[in-house]
Amino acid sequence: MSTILADGIAEIRATGTLAGLPRNHFIDGRWSTPASGERMASDDPGRGAPFAEFANGDAADVDRAVEAARAAFQKTWRDVAPAERGRILQRMTSLLREEADRFALVECLDSGKRLAEAQGDVRGVIRAFEYYAGAADKLEGARLPLAKDYIGFTLDEPAGVAAQIIPWNYPLSTAARGIAPALAAGCAIVAKPAEQTPFTALMLAELGHRAGLPAGVLNVVTGTGARTGAPLVAHPGIDHITFTGSVATGIRVMHAAAENVTRLVLELGGKSPLVVLGDADLDAALDGVIEAIYENAGQICSAGSRLVLDRRIADGFLDRLVARTRGLRLGHGLDDVDVGPVNSALQLGRIDEHVRCAKAAGNDILCGGDIVHPAGANGGWFFAPTIVAARSPSDPIVTEEIFGPVLAVQTVENLDEAIAIANCTDYALVAGIYTSDLNKANRFARHVDAGQVFVNEYFAGGIEVPFGGNRKSGFGREKGMEGLRSYCRTKSVVMRLR
Ligand code: ADP
Repeated sequence: MSTILADGIAEIRATGTLAGLPRNHFIDGRWSTPASGERMASDDPGRGAPFAEFANGDAADVDRAVEAARAAFQKTWRDVAPAERGRILQRMTSLLREEADRFALVECLDSGKRLAEAQGDVRGVIRAFEYYAGAADKLEGARLPLAKDYIGFTLDEPAGVAAQIIPWNYPLSTAARGIAPALAAGCAIVAKPAEQTPFTALMLAELGHRAGLPAGVLNVVTGTGARTGAPLVAHPGIDHITFTGSVATGIRVMHAAAENVTRLVLELGGKSPLVVLGDADLDAALDGVIEAIYENAGQICSAGSRLVLDRRIADGFLDRLVARTRGLRLGHGLDDVDVGPVNSALQLGRIDEHVRCAKAAGNDILCGGDIVHPAGANGGWFFAPTIVAARSPSDPIVTEEIFGPVLAVQTVENLDEAIAIANCTDYALVAGIYTSDLNKANRFARHVDAGQVFVNEYFAGGIEVPFGGNRKSGFGREKGMEGLRSYCRTKSVVMRLR
C-alpha cells in the first residue's frame, strides 16, 4: 500500500475526514467562493455522518461559470489544434496516474464505495483520458462524393459549452466519461457534481488546470439540483447537456433544455436483465450475477437487477446464489468488506420501501430484505444483499428500478421466453446472457432491447464501447468514438469550382 493511502486511511480513522479537500467552486481557472457565502456538508455513508463542507451554489455562480466557459471556448479552446488538446489530455492522464490514490481515497469516503472499487474507478478514469487524448486528432469528418466541379466535406465542430450533470453513484467516472471527450472535441465545460459527492470532480478540474487547460475551459460548480443544476441546464449560454441520473429528473432537464432548444444526452435508469441458460458455465454465471447486482451496493444504472433463470437449473443455482449472498461481508468502504454502504439515508429509505412493498405483495424474500447494522461499522447506511423470487412479470419488484442491492428473480422455459421477459420493462439500458451456445447468444443480442449486450461476462468492455440506453433509459451514447461525436456538430461545406 502506498504511503498516500496508508497515511490517508490513518487520517480518516483518527479524524473522520481528510485535510485539504476543496471548499469552493472551480471557475475560470481558480477556486471561487459561492456568491451566497453558503456551504453545505457531505456525508461519509459508511458512518452516516458529515465529514466536509463545500460551496452551496446558486444561479449567480452558474452565471459566472457559464460566462467563463463561453469566453474560454470562443477566445481559445475551439481554435487550439486537436493535437495540442490531445497533449493536454495526456498530461491530465499522467497527473491522474500520479495522484490516483488520493482520488480513490476521496471517492471512497464521499460515495461510500469500497476502496478497491474506487481504485478500479480511478483506473477507468485514467484510461478514459488516455483514450480521448489519443482520439482528439482523429476526428476526420467525411469527403462527400459530388460531381467533379464540386468539393464537399464535413467538419466536426465542437458543440460549444457543455453542461455535465453528474450523479452520486460514480462521481469521478461519470464526470470523466463526459469531460474527457468534451475537451477532446474542443468544448468548454461547466460540470455540476451531485450534492452528495462533490469533491473528486472539483479535484479533476484543478488537476486539468495544472495540466495546462486554459482558464475557463473546465469549470465545476457545486450545490443542489434545484439551486445549481436547474439554472445550469436552463441557461441560454449552454449549447449541450449531458445528464446522468433518475428518470424523473431527466424529464425535468429535458423540459428545461427544450426552452432553449439545447441538445441533450440523457443517461437514465435501468432494470437490466441477466439471463442464465441451462447450458452456461454456471460458476462463471454465479460470479457474474454477484458482481452485476452487489457491486457498488447495487447503485449502478446498468446493474443486473433482474435474474432470468432457465427453469431446469433454477433450484440448484438459486441455492448456491443465496448461500454466496448470505456470506457477503458488509461494512465501511475502507474496511476489508464485500459490499459497502448505500450513499445516503434517503436512498436507504427508498430501497427499504421497495422491499417492504414487495413483501406486502406476497413476493418471496429468499435472503436479506432489511436495513442492517454490520458488526464493526460505526453507524452508516446499510441494506442487506437481498434476493426476491418475483410473483409476476408485472410486479414492481421486476419493473421498477431500486438502485440498491436487491435482485429480482424470474424463471423461464426457453430463450424466447427469456427474451420476452427481458423486454418487459420500460427500461432498455443493458442486458446480459450466460450461455455456451453462441447461436442463442446472437439471437438474444439481436432481439433484446438494450443499448449494450454482455455475453458471458456482465460489465465486459471499457471506454472503447459506446454506452447508453433506449426508451426510458434515455438516448444518445457516451464512451467510444460515438461519445466523442456527441460533443461535435457536423458542418457540411460544398465548394463550386469554376
Ligand atoms: P437522485 O434523486 O438519486 O438524487 P437525481 O437524478 O435527482 O438523482 O440527481 C442526479 C443529478 O441531477 C444530481 O447532480 C442532482 O443535483 C441533479 N439535479 C437534480 N435536480 C435537477 C434539476 N432540476 N436540474 C438539473 N439538475 C438536477
